Amino acid sequence: MPDPLVLPTPVEMSAWSREQLKAGKSVGFVPTMGALHAGHKSLLDRARMENDRVVVSIFVNPTQFGPGEDFERYPRTFEADEKLCAEAGVDAIFHPAPKDMYGENARTFVEVGGLQDVLCGMSRPGHFRGVTTVVTKLFAILRPDRAYFGRKDAQQLRILEVMNRDLNLGVQIVPCEIVREADGLAMSSRNKYLSPQERKQALCLHQALTQCKKRVAAGETEAMKLIGEMAELIEKAAPGAEIDYAAIVDMNTLDDVTKVSGACMAALAVKVGKTRLIDNMRL
Ligand code: AMP
Repeated sequence: MPDPLVLPTPVEMSAWSREQLKAGKSVGFVPTMGALHAGHKSLLDRARMENDRVVVSIFVNPTQFGPGEDFERYPRTFEADEKLCAEAGVDAIFHPAPKDMYGENARTFVEVGGLQDVLCGMSRPGHFRGVTTVVTKLFAILRPDRAYFGRKDAQQLRILEVMNRDLNLGVQIVPCEIVREADGLAMSSRNKYLSPQERKQALCLHQALTQCKKRVAAGETEAMKLIGEMAELIEKAAPGAEIDYAAIVDMNTLDDVTKVSGACMAALAVKVGKTRLIDNMRL
């Protein structure tokens, strides 16, 4: 398999993508922040199956990190990422520098009202504005036919679906299932931060979600009760871990529900040590 092309600037990326589209080739796009793992690989594999050309972006986007968050220490493993992309049959890697994505005078931002303020938006103000802005820019640079996003970031996925609809961006958004480690921990680039002890404690998210799903299957529908049980399990399994939120929400509106019915998910954000982990499960 030939090595993927590495395109470092928006101009070069646009030119390459335009050429493909002009030649009648479909372009599938997988936006990432790098430190690629099997979760990302599943998106690449799906894109490879469904498109003539596959592009991955590797860009640690400064505008989606708040002050005091982990922008500086976010893992950057470009060589290993390049190898994984080659193995996945990726055609091109877009790897821009922040200065090439954001000019000094950038004044335009994209916001998805309401959906961006709940769940992760509460403790990470401005985060989703950074995500929606960069994804809009990436879509404008590439004009992909399809873009692939993981359900691991379920709120992000929903926000991007709504943005794509509201702004008539015309990209087919393809949701992809969560890839987990053998013991259930959702794969994440941030799992690298966990000490061996924290790695064990991190299992509490998946355990709480699995328990919640089982309780719903057994007939429990009271959201408050289910949330309380998740919190209890987390406190027991990971003493000292800090629950940022434990919620049961409508998958489309992301509104809290009082009773589980229709398309609902349980969603968690928990700080284990210094590492904030998220996970969710459809109920
Ligand atoms: P990130 O590099 O963390 O910004 O993630 C890039 C894309 O990969 C996003 O659409 C994520 O939802 C997706 N992703 C990350 N981890 C997983 C996972 N464990 N399973 C499925 N998709 C994932």
